[in-house]
Amino acid sequence: MVYNLSKGVPIKEESDERMIERMKSLQEQEQRLRKTMDKVKHKIAIISGKGGVGKSTVTANLAVAFAGKGYQGKVGVLDADIHGPCIPKILGVQGERLSVGPPGVFPVKGPIDIKVISMAFLLQSERDPVIWRGPLKMAAIRQFLTDIQWGNLEYLFIDLPPGTGDEPLSVIQLLPDLDGVIIVTIPSEVSQLVVKKAITFARHLNVPILGVIENMSGFVCPKCGSKTDIFASGGVKEIADELSVSILGEIPLDPRISKYSDLGLPFIVNSPNSASTEAFMRIVEKVEGILKKKEGND
Ligand code: ADP
Repeated sequence: MVYNLSKGVPIKEESDERMIERMKSLQEQEQRLRKTMDKVKHKIAIISGKGGVGKSTVTANLAVAFAGKGYQGKVGVLDADIHGPCIPKILGVQGERLSVGPPGVFPVKGPIDIKVISMAFLLQSERDPVIWRGPLKMAAIRQFLTDIQWGNLEYLFIDLPPGTGDEPLSVIQLLPDLDGVIIVTIPSEVSQLVVKKAITFARHLNVPILGVIENMSGFVCPKCGSKTDIFASGGVKEIADELSVSILGEIPLDPRISKYSDLGLPFIVNSPNSASTEAFMRIVEKVEGILKKKEGND
C-alpha cells in the first residue's frame, strides 16, 4: 500500500487495466505528435537563462523575417511560455481565439500568415495568470505540438519558458529532431552566468546550439550613430569562446523595438533601416546558412 504522506491516507493503487489504458493513450499521442511534427521541416527553439532578455522579441521577429523570405503561410510560432505568453502581443494578434473545424484546432494567423499558438488565446483575459502544476502545463504544450492543425511548415519557432527548468527540458525532449536552439542573452554579468547554464543545459540534452544572440548589446545613437555600452561588454564573447559556441550576432538597444512590440508591430518591418534591424537581418542570414548547410548534410 502506498501512502499520501501529507494526509496520512492510503493512495488508491492504479489497476493494471487502467495503467495499460493510460500507456496506450500516451503511445497514441506520441504517434500523433510524430505525425504532426513530421510535416514541419525545421524546428528551432529559442531559449534564455532568464526572463526579460528579449527571447520573445527575437522569436517573433525571426518568424517574420523567415516568412518574408518567400515562406508565407509556411512559418509557425509556438509560444510555449505558459506563464508569460507575449508572442500574440508582439505579432499583433492579442485577443484572438483559436478556431475549431472538422479536422481539429487551427492556429491564429498573424502577419505574413504566420501560424501562431499561445496560451494567451485560451485565457479569458490578458490579466489572468496561469496557475497550473507542471503536469498540466506539459499536457497543454504536448497538445499544442500534437493536436493543432499546423499543416506543412518550413519553419516552426518555439519560444520556450525562460530558464533551465522542467518545462523547457520536457519540450526539448518531446522534439528529438529539433534543428537546434538559439540562446538569447544580454551583456550583463548576471546574464553571463545564466547563459553558461543555458549552454550546459542544451549540451546535456544533446541539442545542437545554433548560436548565441547578444541582445541589448550597447545603444546606437539614432542621430550620430555612435555606440554606447549600457551593460558591461565583452563577457558573452568570452563565454562563447570558452565553451566553443558561436555568436550569431549582437542586437543594440533601440527604444523603437519595445515601442513597436507594444503596438503589435514587428520592429524589423517597421524600422527597417535601424542598426538593430540590420544586425537582426545579419543574424537571420546566419541562421538560414546554418539550416541550409544542415539540410545539405542530411
Ligand atoms: P523575454 O521573452 O526574454 O522575457 P521580451 O522579448 O519580452 O523578453 O523583451 C523584454 C522587453 O524588452 C520587451 O519590452 C521588449 O520590447 C524589450 N526589448 C527586447 N529587446 C530590445 C532591444 N534590443 N531594445 C529595446 N528593447 C528591447
